Amino acid sequence: KELTDLNALADEYLRLSYHGLRAKDKSFNAHLITDLDPQVPNIEVVPQDLGRVFLNLINNAFYAVHKKNTLGLANYEPTVWVTTKKIEDEIHVSVRDNGTGIPEEVQSKIFQPFFTTKPTGQGTGLGLSLAYDIVTKGHGGEMEMESIEGEGTTFMVRLPIN
Ligand code: ADP
Ligand code: MG
Repeated sequence: KELTDLNALADEYLRLSYHGLRAKDKSFNAHLITDLDPQVPNIEVVPQDLGRVFLNLINNAFYAVHKKNTLGLANYEPTVWVTTKKIEDEIHVSVRDNGTGIPEEVQSKIFQPFFTTKPTGQGTGLGLSLAYDIVTKGHGGEMEMESIEGEGTTFMVRLPIN
């Protein structure tokens, strides 16, 4: 584990992922909105592992807004928000999107290994189960999801300040 600036890590992965997707598909577009709390202290984490967590949440968010965007809804503005906040002895990192949302009957399954709704070759279904293990077993944190089908999804990662 290394002392890590989670604001920088989250911001870096948001931009990396966005530019990667734009390089593959010039028509891909989304608003990126960050709200990074300067009070967030550096904490001891495995930066590569936490980076994978953020990257997976961010890629899932971009996928969901892109998919909704292809429906051609009027006035739809695909948007992904990344927020960090120091709350007492925890750091909360949330990744929110206004994409497709997750149907209620599917919500209990998304953290299971190999669960995916993506076409073959586009998703392994391992991202969230891995992310969950990295956050909980690897860093003593917690991970939650809130979603409304058709409206969007928020994933929240809570990490203890060691
Ligand atoms: P994968 O991305 O390979 O499908 P994940 O474990 O990352 O695997 O996600 C599992 C499933 O959870 C996705 O296939 C999708 O159905 C759902 N999901 C995850 N994040 C989102 C999101 N932000 N918006 C809508 N659905 C999501
Ligand atoms: Mg994924």
